[in-house]
Amino acid sequence: MSAPTPSWSDRLLGTEPRMRDRTVMSLLGSLVYLVWFLVMVTFAIPQQRISADLGLLFAVLMVPGILVFYPLVRSGWSQRFADPGLISVQILWGCLIAVVAYATVPTGRAALLQTMGLALVFGFMSLSPRAALRTGLILIGMLMTVLAIGHLFPLPEFRPTAQTVKLLAAVFIMGMITLQSRKFALLRERVAHERRTLAEAQLALERVTRHDALTGLLSRLYGQERLDQEHQRALLSGRTFGVVLMDLDHFKQINDRHGHQVGDEVLVAFAQAAREVLRDTDLIARWGGEEFLIILPDTHKAGKALQALERLQARLRTTVVSETEPALRISFSAGYALWRAPEDVDVLLQRADRALYAAKHAGRNRCVEAN
Ligand code: GH3
Ligand code: MG
Ligand code: MG
Repeated sequence: MSAPTPSWSDRLLGTEPRMRDRTVMSLLGSLVYLVWFLVMVTFAIPQQRISADLGLLFAVLMVPGILVFYPLVRSGWSQRFADPGLISVQILWGCLIAVVAYATVPTGRAALLQTMGLALVFGFMSLSPRAALRTGLILIGMLMTVLAIGHLFPLPEFRPTAQTVKLLAAVFIMGMITLQSRKFALLRERVAHERRTLAEAQLALERVTRHDALTGLLSRLYGQERLDQEHQRALLSGRTFGVVLMDLDHFKQINDRHGHQVGDEVLVAFAQAAREVLRDTDLIARWGGEEFLIILPDTHKAGKALQALERLQARLRTTVVSETEPALRISFSAGYALWRAPEDVDVLLQRADRALYAAKHAGRNRCVEAN
């Protein structure tokens, strides 16, 4: 099957959501520059609102805005930076053009200041705390530079005293925006950190509830859940599975003779041996004290379950199950059953349990198929 052809918007903006946010911003930026460029060449220059030289300077400054930022972001090249949407650079570039316009074009100065404030607000959503601070400080630096130049050199219709008041007011507002933007960014970082911590805690909790602390096998609760899942899958696919209930033989005696500590060691060694002889796809849960449940997915012949159990019996005959009592060997009794569509899990387990009981009754250390 061939992959579907991507839509034009996917091609233009990318498919990954965060990439899309970034490319949308850059593309919008490009369009704004393009509109200003067209206004300049079709109106401002012909109407002699600005000189051709100044027009050329603006044209040069607008080129990166129109042609450079979007391709850098869309191609993924900018992913190598801490600010992959180049948000800070784009804000500052726009503000640089606005500052040059502020110094050289007398009309619309108030609107330019507002635009700079607005550009800074764009950073609110995505800049890191440091980048937010840096961006704001650079913008403030630019405004102060214009003010200094206005005091040192004659700028068109630039009355230094009046402009000092206006620019200092703008600097104050930009400073406030910057501080808020940084605060916002810090808050965002904290929320992200807390969300990560919560996800980790949830994972840790899941690990604990899904596994038995002593043997590391699946817990009874989770074993039951997996059994239900396997049952559901078998109902849908018709693929049969098997279960085994097993119980260690004369385990009480081991505890009584050698102590509880040795009993625990034995349980761990048994779990290890069982994991080693079973397939990776088989599941084993600690069902009770020294009782275990094995789920054998995709098993269509009872003989396959028996083979696995015989492998485990053979392994246990040679396995040292306690370092303290190296001569100690253990055995188990088991009842195994294949699922018969459409029987319930409870019925299946009851059949296996009866078979286990029969195995114990028949003298232990044996495996009995359920009927
Ligand atoms: P059978 O062959 O009939 O199964 O005999 P058994 O002695 O194994 O049977 P029984 O059910 O009477 O004994 C099970 C023992 O397992 C009793 C209990 O103290 C012990 N046991 C259960 N959980 C643990 C555990 O976590 N650690 C240890 N060391 N012993 C445990
Ligand atoms: Mg028991
Ligand atoms: Mg037992």
